Amino acid sequence: MTATAEPPNSVFSSMRLQLTFWYMAVLTVVLLVFALTTYSYLARAAHKRTDDSLQDTLNSLVSTFNSELTDEHQSDDNAVKEAVESFHFRDRQLIVFDEKQAVVVASQTPADMPLGTKWLSLPVAQSQLSGLLTSALRSGRAFATLFPGKHAVRVLAAPVEGNRHYTFVVANPLLEEEQALAQARNAFYVAVPLALLIAAVGGYFLARKSLAPVVAMGQQAAQIGASNLNQRIPIPRNNQELSRLARTFNDLLTRLDESFAQQKRFMADASHELRTPVAVVRGESEVALSQPARDVNEYRESLTIIHDEGRRLTRMVDDLFILARADAGEYPLVRENFYLDESLSECVRSMRSLATQKGLEINYQPPAKEVAFRGDEALVRRVVLNLIHNAIKYTPVGGHVNVKLAEANSGCEITISDSGSGIPAAAQAHVFDRFFRADKARSREEFLSGSGAGLGLSIAKWAAELHGGRIVLERSDASGSTFVISLPYSEHGSAPTSS
Ligand code: ADP
Repeated sequence: MTATAEPPNSVFSSMRLQLTFWYMAVLTVVLLVFALTTYSYLARAAHKRTDDSLQDTLNSLVSTFNSELTDEHQSDDNAVKEAVESFHFRDRQLIVFDEKQAVVVASQTPADMPLGTKWLSLPVAQSQLSGLLTSALRSGRAFATLFPGKHAVRVLAAPVEGNRHYTFVVANPLLEEEQALAQARNAFYVAVPLALLIAAVGGYFLARKSLAPVVAMGQQAAQIGASNLNQRIPIPRNNQELSRLARTFNDLLTRLDESFAQQKRFMADASHELRTPVAVVRGESEVALSQPARDVNEYRESLTIIHDEGRRLTRMVDDLFILARADAGEYPLVRENFYLDESLSECVRSMRSLATQKGLEINYQPPAKEVAFRGDEALVRRVVLNLIHNAIKYTPVGGHVNVKLAEANSGCEITISDSGSGIPAAAQAHVFDRFFRADKARSREEFLSGSGAGLGLSIAKWAAELHGGRIVLERSDASGSTFVISLPYSEHGSAPTSS
């Protein structure tokens, strides 16, 4: 039994919650930036409004004072008093100082002053405003904010010249402005968390709705196993990402399905091929044992057949083992430097007696110079021996088999040709398939006299590809067949050395 890893259990392992969290985080930043920007804009606009209005009041006061001055019977101080008294504000204070910063006149506390308005008492005004008065005298009109906070007062001071030097001061408590800004702040304190709460709930449901197809897809995928690998998950419409995910998953299932089917075929073919020699061994031994005593020659004949089948079984099991390891990517490839021309020469020599027995001529055409090669020598020999064996097997008496090694295109080519009966045109495309035999009937006879199970060429193809090369059936017709194995030198860093 295999243990399946449980998904982590923390709250944030849920994608829905993760999405909602990130959505909330981004929205919080956006709302905070929005609230702060709006608030600072409102505050700045309110301050500007107050300052402009203070300027207007001061301008009016100065022009009233100037017109009072035109009255010759009136002293400057009287003109100042007249000007100040001619104004009435609910929440605005006018104070005039002389050059010694003594109060000349100040507006009376209004009876209808709004509750909570900060009204400057004169000693306080004198002490609080001395800095502002000095800077107004030095550089013209000057603003200041006294008692910053809830009881802030905005003050504008301006020097005015009559016969004496006066400084006119207009003070405006910021109560209303503060109240308006507090209301704005309160609105944000309520609106931002409320918006976040609504967004969180909405975001969670949206995430749930968006991820619902993924959850459904997971449930459908969980139903698919080795027994129903041909099933596919439906491709959601209207959603590019999910349909791409579903398609990718379905492609994976297709590949798995093909690979499972291939394995099943391989198992079925392998057991089918193994069954025949096993049946022959059993049949022969049963015949030999059926009578208490038989002729020695009959025993010898049975044992010879059993021995041949044993050899063939060994070869077949070897081939199957190679292919199984090749499929699992576990073939222990042994790369070494060797001379390919020498290896080929030895292969031809070892097959010569078999060829001669069959009445065939076998020739080896070596290259002009030595061919140093890096690869798995045993595997290369196995492939070449198999091809020569095939050539001998399928060539009738009196024919010939040629083996040639030549350098070509930064590699080398091993050509094995024969003058046999050739492979039928329809079968040529399949000769490298596993368990393929062009002519089953003929091969069955051949099988009994030493043929394989149709695995030799598929092993040859795999081995050539493992070395970065390839094998092709270059030609096959009634005059014979030619197989060419191309092996590159450069693959895996090998380079030819010639002496
Ligand atoms: P086998 O073990 O049956 O020879 P191979 O994979 O080596 O298996 O060959 C597959 C089939 O290709 C053979 O059964 C035979 O029909 C065909 N074949 C291979 N080599 C030759 C050849 N030189 N001439 C004719 N037919 C060949």
